[in-house]
Amino acid sequence: MTEPAIVGPDHVVSIEYRLTDDQGNLIDTSDGGEPLVFLYGHGQIIPGLEKALEGKPEGHKGHVVIPPADGYGESDPELIFTEPKSTFEFEVEVGQMLEASDEEGETYEYQVIGVDDEGIKLDGNHPLAGKTLTFDVTVLSVRPASPTELSHGHVHGDDGHHH
Ligand code: ZN
Repeated sequence: MTEPAIVGPDHVVSIEYRLTDDQGNLIDTSDGGEPLVFLYGHGQIIPGLEKALEGKPEGHKGHVVIPPADGYGESDPELIFTEPKSTFEFEVEVGQMLEASDEEGETYEYQVIGVDDEGIKLDGNHPLAGKTLTFDVTVLSVRPASPTELSHGHVHGDDGHHH
């Protein structure tokens, strides 16, 4: 007797998904591309989606609504600030993503959320922070991770990347 493969810790899971926001706008989808393949229980996808998939068999289809706390977190007001226009040697537009790095070489991404006479308003939160996320998800396959995959902390093989 083989047990049906179900989603759980230390398994390699392959899913198809459609991600929409609380207005029904499409944010991301695997439609027309590769399925998302990840190592379950290793923080590779947002906590709310992991929780929703736990114990589900191959072929499962789910509709999952995830509050910000189980998604990309609440929006942190301290990461929203205004820089004088003179800081920028180029034109910036609302919606544009900017990258900055600190003295340690760590890079940060900011989205331009406002441009006016006072300056350029930037938001360093994840673009999906503070958003309620809805996933329509199908579990395509589940298999136990190999010892090497577990020691590397990521998926190998045709459905993953080699290191
Ligand atoms: Zn590896």
